[in-house]
Amino acid sequence: MKWPAMGYARVESLADLWRVMDEAGPESQILAGGQSLLATLSFRLSEPSGLIDITRISALKGIAVKGNILRIGALTRHADLGRDPLVAARAPLLAKAAPLIAHPAIRNRGTIGGSLALADPAAELPACVVALGATIVIASKAGERRIAAEDFFQGLFSTDLQPGEIIAAVEVPVATSASRQTIVEVTRRSGDYAMAGLAAVLSARPDGHVDAARLVYFGVGSGAEIATGASAALAGRPLDAAAIAAAQAALADDLDPPGDLHGGPELKRHLARVLTARALRSFLAPAEQAA
Ligand SMILES: Cc1cc2nc3c(=O)[nH]c(=O)nc-3n(C[C@H](O)[C@H](O)[C@H](O)COP(=O)(O)OP(=O)(O)OC[C@H]3O[C@@H](n4cnc5c(N)ncnc54)[C@H](O)[C@@H]3O)c2cc1C
Repeated sequence: MKWPAMGYARVESLADLWRVMDEAGPESQILAGGQSLLATLSFRLSEPSGLIDITRISALKGIAVKGNILRIGALTRHADLGRDPLVAARAPLLAKAAPLIAHPAIRNRGTIGGSLALADPAAELPACVVALGATIVIASKAGERRIAAEDFFQGLFSTDLQPGEIIAAVEVPVATSASRQTIVEVTRRSGDYAMAGLAAVLSARPDGHVDAARLVYFGVGSGAEIATGASAALAGRPLDAAAIAAAQAALADDLDPPGDLHGGPELKRHLARVLTARALRSFLAPAEQAA
């Protein structure tokens, strides 16, 4: 199908953006990497009055560390997340997530801001930023506001973004030597959206004792699902087979997955349990993994 007729404006700065947004009105849409938006236009799932291309706004670009915060500009592409040394060292979860997103051509254009704004329940990055306890930086002509990632996502393809607002950046607490971060998922084919996935962040002592855990699942609900029971089941004890079994058992109360084109709720629950063991075992020493 052809795209609907619409306007197009490419802006060079945030000041330009606020002016063009005012002129274009609420029926216009922000265009970042275009990897989700352009498909919805082709299928006529969305018919904006115009597209406002933000890809040249330098204030939305760049990755930098300030104190114990890693700030990632909204226009950071998935491919950049996967190869940036600061991300690899300070937020390894995001570096591990990047190669799981779609295919190289899509990763070369798709942006972290676009992925978070879309809030696809099967997407990797919303679950990662929730697991990391990140903050979403939102900008509008009135200035900036910050919101915890877990409050930003409000359900299926739904966020706290208000008309006139955009995502400017994501601020991630930098990993410490106690941080353990990983992401695992099951897909039908490489590059597909996940049938189920898990972003896991632990804070562990050198002796393997878990101080705190955050297990966030994707593809098993209406958004990034924080498994509070499973996370609590790990805290304050050594990470061993018994702790992993306790986390798996707690998922029965944590997750209530709807069926989708991949399968029914029971399949999703099964995958979540399998992924839990896979993720947590990856934190064990090699000898314990083999046991
Ligand atoms: C074949 C295919 C497979 C894919 N597989 C995966 C996958 O496995 N995992 C995954 O996570 N994603 C997947 N994607 C989606 C991909 O990651 C997109 O890049 C991403 O979801 C959207 O980013 P974008 O920059 O392309 O945003 P766009 O498509 O430009 O925009 C998406 C939406 O976000 C809004 N938006 C964009 N940027 C901002 C901003 N800064 N502030 C406010 N609103 C904004 C737009 O207005 C639009 O509504 C896939 C896409 C395709 C085509």
